[in-house]
Amino acid sequence: ERTIQRIAAGEVVERPASVVKELIENSLDAGATRVAVSVEAGGTEGIRVRDDGVGIPADQLEAAVAEHATSKIGDIEDLEAGVGTLGFRGEALYTVGAVSRLTVRSRPPDADVGAEVTVEGGDVGEVRPAGCPTGTTVEVDDLFYNTPARKKFLKRVSTEFDHVNTVVTGYALANPDVAVSLEHDGRETFATEGNGDLRSAVLAVYGREVAESMLEVDWEPESEEEGAPPATRVTGLVSHPETTRSARDYLATYVNDRYVTAGALREAVLEAYGGQLAPDRYPFAVLFVEVPPDEVDVNVHPRKLEVRFDREAGVRAAVESAVESALLDHGL
Ligand code: ADP
Ligand code: MG
Repeated sequence: ERTIQRIAAGEVVERPASVVKELIENSLDAGATRVAVSVEAGGTEGIRVRDDGVGIPADQLEAAVAEHATSKIGDIEDLEAGVGTLGFRGEALYTVGAVSRLTVRSRPPDADVGAEVTVEGGDVGEVRPAGCPTGTTVEVDDLFYNTPARKKFLKRVSTEFDHVNTVVTGYALANPDVAVSLEHDGRETFATEGNGDLRSAVLAVYGREVAESMLEVDWEPESEEEGAPPATRVTGLVSHPETTRSARDYLATYVNDRYVTAGALREAVLEAYGGQLAPDRYPFAVLFVEVPPDEVDVNVHPRKLEVRFDREAGVRAAVESAVESALLDHGL
């Protein structure tokens, strides 16, 4: 069956970080103001995501872990638009439940008690009452315990944790109005305040030195001749050229609020710094690029981290100009 084949191929759940990504998206879709992620052994042994969102009523818990469970597609137009909510495929919980021991525990704000359901290797247990706070907690233990071929592909704990950290960091920076925290083997990695301030989120994630060095970016093209698609806007923070790291991992780019790994955008950021960076040093950046939805194709890749632009050169130039003018504003 198609879904099973896709699970086996690792197309849907590749590693702990992909589970974390799906669970955070569900929490954000549920309107959470707090999302607490905690993982054991890089997520290979355990993953828990707790939120204070709208919750799942007891009578809908079983459906939530079933195939094609989504409560989010109103009609085919929603599906084509692909926006509105982050996840729209209705198969994340089902897929994760097929390759792990999954527990979903939830209580909507208007319910007196919560309920929980457990799925083990695809076998859905009974829905039982459970005492729990408002919101939803999803626990995923022993990922890939029943698919040894997939389990073999997992890397070292530290590598898996790096991937988890990148995902959680990406969402924390994109949602400064949500308090996002990450814990590994019982130790807190970071916790943002959720006060809506991007610099404060950067402080929580990257520390004070980086947060204080960040320069504000807020750019729109002055005229159409600049080649950027109409209604382009670039906002966010980039670091002072002297506040750098030896890896490019700290360039977080978002297109229409979706975290993307767009090589062209990263290149554009680096171009803007020109000769100001020491050799093999890379700045920090948290950049939000807004373009009209019809200028961008976000569905190039199944995990949707890549994007394609109708006018890539224009968007690239916009990002470069945006960062350049932030540097110029500070005499750099
Ligand atoms: P999708 O997100 O694509 O709809 P999922 O398999 O990720 O599919 O989730 C299935 C359904 O379970 C969602 O549509 C939603 O109704 C419910 N759900 C999952 N996670 C949460 C959560 N954290 N809070 C509230 N509802 C949730
Ligand atoms: Mg989902």
